[in-house]
Amino acid sequence: MSETVTKRIGVLGAGQLALMLAEAARPLGLEVVCAGQPGDCAGQVAPVVEVDLADAQAVAAFAATVDVVTIESENIDAAVLQGLNLYPNARAVGIAQDRLLEKTFFRECGIEVAPFAAVGSLAELEQAVASIGLPAILKTRRMGYDGKGQVRIYRPEEAAAAWQEIGGAPCILEGMVAFDAEVSLLAARAADGEIVFYPLVRNHHREGILRTSIAPFVHEDLQALAEGYLRLVLERLEYVGVLAVEFFVQNDTLLANEMAPRVHNSGHWTIEGSATSQFANHLRAIAGLPLGPTASKPTVMLNCIGTMPPASETAAFPRLFRHDYGKAARPGRKVGHLTFPGEETAAIEAWQRRLQDER
Ligand code: AMP
Repeated sequence: MSETVTKRIGVLGAGQLALMLAEAARPLGLEVVCAGQPGDCAGQVAPVVEVDLADAQAVAAFAATVDVVTIESENIDAAVLQGLNLYPNARAVGIAQDRLLEKTFFRECGIEVAPFAAVGSLAELEQAVASIGLPAILKTRRMGYDGKGQVRIYRPEEAAAAWQEIGGAPCILEGMVAFDAEVSLLAARAADGEIVFYPLVRNHHREGILRTSIAPFVHEDLQALAEGYLRLVLERLEYVGVLAVEFFVQNDTLLANEMAPRVHNSGHWTIEGSATSQFANHLRAIAGLPLGPTASKPTVMLNCIGTMPPASETAAFPRLFRHDYGKAARPGRKVGHLTFPGEETAAIEAWQRRLQDER
């Protein structure tokens, strides 16, 4: 290794994604330092420097103490990201944090999306309802995650209430897709242009929150289609790091829903299920190390929403991997996940029912 190799990675944010990046860093000889708040869960495994992520000067001062900077959330003001040695780059993050830019970019890449229109007023919403048709979903352009900032509209007379509920924020209206399945594809791109792909994963959401990811979603044509789409996005954005794109599957085709310019919840299964986890490959890419192989085995990941099941109960299953993020229990909050080898069907179904009851 040359002396210029990246050693110190600064993560903007100190939640569970930063925690799992920090866990993956040690075997690579890398160090992770997080910018966050006291008590953030990544503090269990990595130093957390108190930084207000809305304060450009404070973020720049933090960035000066590390070799490269990465993010665990795309909801950071683009102005704060300017001028940082940031991977993925600020352009990619800027597109991913705005649903209108994101959908427009997908379209420019030739990637299919649900019909959508920009909405900045009630009059525009009414026009969009007329042109797109119902049912449709009104989504805020920014700060939407886990189903937040979304209102479903089924009848034209519901438009005014939806506009009020969303608080008049800049939005898009999106046609509701009667999808056969929701899937995501994760890929990592290195600075030298090398790209590795993971298998497609099937995702199940409830109340807008990811509950289950099942890998792989076996479909040769859709795997090839999704890989082609991600290659376009990665190359156009000169992207370095892990990228996740969520798709709706409809009649043997894919409609892109959104992208995450970071490691993603639907890739947590790769810790135990792949030769190289998404966390290790993200670190490898941004640190200028060669990417690792993504050979994978069937794996299921169940999110723990609200509370963790007792450790004594999960420990009774020798082939269950428990990831407790060490966060306080709170309804609707992702506090951990469980990973199973895919062949343990009966145990998985039992735990799925159990976690559903607990949320
Ligand atoms: P999002 O925040 O855009 O990922 O939306 C959260 C979840 O809402 C998705 O995973 C889908 O289950 C559902 N959803 C979002 N957009 C649509 C759509 N256009 N049609 C149908 N379901 C959707």
